[in-house]
Amino acid sequence: MLPGDGIGPEVTAEAVRVLAAVADLYGYRIATQEYPIGAAAVRLLGEALPARTRDAVLEADAVLLGAVGDPALADATGSRRPEAGLLALRKLLGVYANLRPVSVHPALRHASPLKPDRLDNVDLLIVRELTGGLYYGEPRGRDAQSAVNTLRYSVAEIERVARVAFQAARERRGLVTSVDKANVLEVSQLWRETVSWIGGDYPDVRLEHLYVDFAAMRLIANPASFDVLLTENLFGDILSDEAAVLTGSLGLLPSASIGDGPGLFEPVHGSAPDIAGRGVANPIGAIGSAAMLLRYGLQLPDAADLVEQAIAAVVDAGGRTADIALPGEPTLTIGEMGEEIAQRVASRILSHQSSANALQAIPSSRPPTTSLG
Ligand code: NAD
Repeated sequence: MLPGDGIGPEVTAEAVRVLAAVADLYGYRIATQEYPIGAAAVRLLGEALPARTRDAVLEADAVLLGAVGDPALADATGSRRPEAGLLALRKLLGVYANLRPVSVHPALRHASPLKPDRLDNVDLLIVRELTGGLYYGEPRGRDAQSAVNTLRYSVAEIERVARVAFQAARERRGLVTSVDKANVLEVSQLWRETVSWIGGDYPDVRLEHLYVDFAAMRLIANPASFDVLLTENLFGDILSDEAAVLTGSLGLLPSASIGDGPGLFEPVHGSAPDIAGRGVANPIGAIGSAAMLLRYGLQLPDAADLVEQAIAAVVDAGGRTADIALPGEPTLTIGEMGEEIAQRVASRILSHQSSANALQAIPSSRPPTTSLG
């Protein structure tokens, strides 16, 4: 657990509450340990990703992060910059595939800036390459008159993230839309060829290619036409924030970043200093990230499904934090929202207990004592 800054500790506390309810229900022991990151770590230990945090995340089964960032350190540089801690963490964990699901809950259509009829059946997953491309390419630099960045991808880098996308599509609606700029960029031509070649291993998944400019338009004009959207680092950064707008509140969105070691699970939003400490933040993004942690970090898909169903049930029943409430609608505090969701998870115990086949009904794809962290 890396709670971080601003609303980070508030939302991760609610995610832990829900994980505890999951553990109680399934008989798992989920061990969590907290370490500092971001501005909190700078204040405590002088750097945004201290050695003790680095060591701990490499030992964990999965890492759940709140958010980093503090206006008081906006001018900090180097390893004292809170956001540098997050980039260093992603690099340390080697998490090359960033997964961001975006769906619009029917009861929350009013929160979206799009017309309601555009939002029917919107349920997409953005798979973004996270550790390569323009953000990391060398050479890079600038002088007074010019600047350079380098866009480079290898076949191996494209292949590993493409496989994540095809695998995910297989478990969803069976469509991968690969986004590039192959009409202009050689790197995109290699991207397109490699994705097509990997697609041959997944004959049950349909593959289409889109240019990034057209994909940006279609995300607004017809977002329901996407299932899995696969793209490189820079395009993914932009398109995933565009897609986030569809849901109406940043506070709703979870993410998972996975590689070959422990995965990193974090809500999409930042530290929201404007609302920190007031108990009004929406914990659904963080709780959804905990569901992704169960699914991708601990291979517990049934527990993940249950948490996602509990979130949907609370929203269906009218549970609203301030960011998703209509004017005048009653609102829940962050703690009340977390508790509502945890109770929906726990109430499965009641329904199972009343069944003669109670224990068989609870799937266990992992031994009962599980250690996280
Ligand atoms: P932000 O995501 O923190 O906030 C943007 C707006 O969304 C704010 O009005 C905020 O109140 C609202 N919001 C965000 N999360 C919410 C939630 N859970 N519930 C209700 N409302 C929510 O982005 P920002 O204001 O641009 O950045 C603030 C700080 O966070 C900066 O220091 C930035 O660098 C950092 N940041 C960190 C991450 C991260 O840790 N992954 C991501 C983005 C920004």
